Amino acid sequence: MECDLLIVGSGPIGIEVAAAARGAGIKEILVDRGQLAQTVVDWPEGSRFFSSPERMAIAGVPLQSTHQELATREEYLAYLRGVVEVRGLSPRLYWSVSAIRKKAGPGSPTPGFEVDLVHSFFTDRRETVLARAVVITTGDMAKPNLLGIPGEQLPHVTHYGGDVHRFFGQRLVVVGGRNSAVETAIRAWRLGAKVAISYRRPAFDNHYVYSRLHLEINLLTRKGAIDFYPSTVPVSISPDAVTLAPAPDLVAEGNSGKTIDVPADFVFLATGYNADASLLRSAGVRLEGDDEVPAYDAETMETNVSGLYVAGTAAAGNQREYQAFVGTSHDHAGKILAHAFGVEPERAEAFTGTIPRRHYPFGWEDIEPE
Ligand SMILES: Cc1cc2nc3c(=O)[nH]c(=O)nc-3n(C[C@H](O)[C@H](O)[C@H](O)COP(=O)(O)OP(=O)(O)OC[C@H]3O[C@@H](n4cnc5c(N)ncnc54)[C@H](O)[C@@H]3O)c2cc1C
Repeated sequence: MECDLLIVGSGPIGIEVAAAARGAGIKEILVDRGQLAQTVVDWPEGSRFFSSPERMAIAGVPLQSTHQELATREEYLAYLRGVVEVRGLSPRLYWSVSAIRKKAGPGSPTPGFEVDLVHSFFTDRRETVLARAVVITTGDMAKPNLLGIPGEQLPHVTHYGGDVHRFFGQRLVVVGGRNSAVETAIRAWRLGAKVAISYRRPAFDNHYVYSRLHLEINLLTRKGAIDFYPSTVPVSISPDAVTLAPAPDLVAEGNSGKTIDVPADFVFLATGYNADASLLRSAGVRLEGDDEVPAYDAETMETNVSGLYVAGTAAAGNQREYQAFVGTSHDHAGKILAHAFGVEPERAEAFTGTIPRRHYPFGWEDIEPE
């Protein structure tokens, strides 16, 4: 099999790059090791985006949400399926890209890459695709940030919010203080769970928590509806309880370090996720700093390996401070197509972001003035 552009990852930005390529007449193959937009599939059922529909819309197709509110996971997945169909894409789902090799030497008449695919279920099924250029859009949420504490692998402990219905009538301990932790705590309390939340900081910070959630979690914890354990970290988990200890900075300030056991039937460790940089690394991309940010040129999205590009949140490595989102990645497709294939920017723009009528530019300072 041969193509001009192979795109690894069918998240929103992978789909957008593929749609822009298809729109420009470039033969593309879009591959995902899981379902379409597997990262979004892995979100808790019924959760909402924090970005507005205008920012989440891709490929020049407006995102209509049922009540003109922030889109839910389910609305967005339905929308992405529609975008794939309307843009005529045929993603190869359930195929993992296992290796990307530069084609070089006398046996390679054309420059480009050999890309190895392995079927996600039947691993003896393998294929190699020849591609002139490759884009890696594998996101930044491949694996949970493990705490490495005793009991973390117990069956009632999860790093994924999942369906909150399962917490009905149960004692749930949530660990974390950002959007996912706070949203799950509020929703689980609302549907009838007894909820406690442990956070390593002394208070919820509205820099990290969406304002609607920040308001509500502060109210619920202040009124005692949800038990709040500020400045604590979990140190072990048993089948019945989570043991919390004072956060290290408190201990450094002279706190006794006394632990407390909080009863739990379920434990949600909302401690963030990490990117899987193994494909980038094995393809020869240089990874920089603690966050393993791939080395790339911001004007073209090309990495230090010529012809190999990054797009979407994969370009930001392990984001400890989230700066890269879907809404900040809409220019990636145009930059890549211009550099790799000389596509005019206007042509690529017709297949990126939302429709022009809905487009209004704004930056982080417009959302969080402080
Ligand atoms: C509850 C929640 C709310 C969020 N809200 C927002 C929000 O409001 N706004 C926002 O912008 N972001 C939000 N995010 C983050 C959002 O998920 C990412 O910004 C978005 O998915 C990034 O898109 P992407 O296309 O860059 O990568 P992803 O969507 O992460 O897609 C990566 C894809 O690559 C595939 N893949 C990985 N490795 C391979 C391989 N070797 N071979 C083949 N395929 C591979 C994966 O299966 C996956 O489908 C939220 C996340 C959560 C959990």
